[in-house]
Amino acid sequence: MHITIWFILITLHNGINGFGYSKREQHLWPRKYESCAGKLQSPVAISTSKAIVLPFPALEMIGYHNFLPMPQILTNNGQTVKLSIDKNAIYKRLPYIFGAILKQEQQYEIEHLHFHWGIKNNKGAEHVLNGIRYPMEIHIVHRNMAYSNISHALQHEDGIVVVAAFFQV
Ligand SMILES: [Zn+2]
Repeated sequence: MHITIWFILITLHNGINGFGYSKREQHLWPRKYESCAGKLQSPVAISTSKAIVLPFPALEMIGYHNFLPMPQILTNNGQTVKLSIDKNAIYKRLPYIFGAILKQEQQYEIEHLHFHWGIKNNKGAEHVLNGIRYPMEIHIVHRNMAYSNISHALQHEDGIVVVAAFFQV
């Protein structure tokens, strides 16, 4: 498999339970998740010809190159496969990110990762790039380390950052 990676930073993520992706289901999102009624929610259709290129520092991903995920908790919740990080396991330090559009001094530690895919190769990814929906998308969910846990972080606009990448078969 050849992997093409496009990184997207998503700074608010409302969880993965209780919704679907059909057109009808998407119209129901605002009923359950108020923030889905606006124009800033996921998914995003990215058009590189219309995008405004801004200079940002690199997104620094620390500890990912030698992180052994040791999948202690791998679950299928019916909508995705999720790899959770066992917080009771002993790590020197969990992988974390900083830089790019994130505020200075803020670091975000990995919480879990999950995937979006579909029954057809053109219906997998959550986001669309130049009209193409890739077969699969990974979301690496990070928690702002200023907040002690994911529940606490979800209550803040700067609490969660999701690094997304597309997979191409
Ligand atoms: Zn996701």
